Amino acid sequence: MNSQLLIRGFDFHCHVDLHPDPPELIRACEENAILTLAVTTTPKAWNQNVEWSKGSHYVYPAVGLHPELVSDRFAEIELLESAIARTPLVGEIGLDGSPQHRGSWRQQADVFARSLAAAQNVGGRVASIHSRQAAEEVVQHLREQTTGDRVLPILHWFSGSQSQARQAADLGAYFSVNPRSLEHARGVALARSLPEARLLTETDSPFASLANPPTGPKCIPQAVQRLASIRDVSAEAMATCLHQNARRVLAFAGIHVAAR
Ligand code: MN
Repeated sequence: MNSQLLIRGFDFHCHVDLHPDPPELIRACEENAILTLAVTTTPKAWNQNVEWSKGSHYVYPAVGLHPELVSDRFAEIELLESAIARTPLVGEIGLDGSPQHRGSWRQQADVFARSLAAAQNVGGRVASIHSRQAAEEVVQHLREQTTGDRVLPILHWFSGSQSQARQAADLGAYFSVNPRSLEHARGVALARSLPEARLLTETDSPFASLANPPTGPKCIPQAVQRLASIRDVSAEAMATCLHQNARRVLAFAGIHVAAR
């Protein structure tokens, strides 16, 4: 990529392909200068994301198999493994322990384990990870299956405990925080407790965008401001820290962006 590209912010978890008009959302990322990780929910959807983002300097597709879809899409596991061997960005993968998805837990664990094994095997992989009601198990998988020199995990919209967050951070994990998670006291307390050098921003758009509009990339500056106020630093200092963190994460995947 052009390492002099102007970047105003980062969205480390956006479902570009689930928006009503994906090319339009990609244009919005460009216009707002928000570098965006376009996560996918099935490996089959990844190809379309690759096509859409081909001409974009700001949107990077990631390949995943969402834990909520594993019961329907388990057969795509081999596609996922082979895609992980070819692309540095992985997501959305993970585990969902909420009651409505408990039925697929064993399949979820199988898909997550095989995804992490594929990433660990090739190395240089950044993975955006879902861990709703499964923080402990996600941390355990990371501990047993990955090493920090080969896989860089980003826990997306993390809602586990502060002690689970610390364990994940000890394993090298980053945390992508979205504005919606900062609307509740528990999310605020967690965001305040996370190590500064592991903070990233995301939108989880279209699922967690703030009231309409804006959706997608326009939410990022608000997320930065909100994080700054929660952590009692200036918006400028927060933006600089987030840029440095994002730069490190992207460099791990071989994507080089300029310092702020
Ligand atoms: Mn998501």
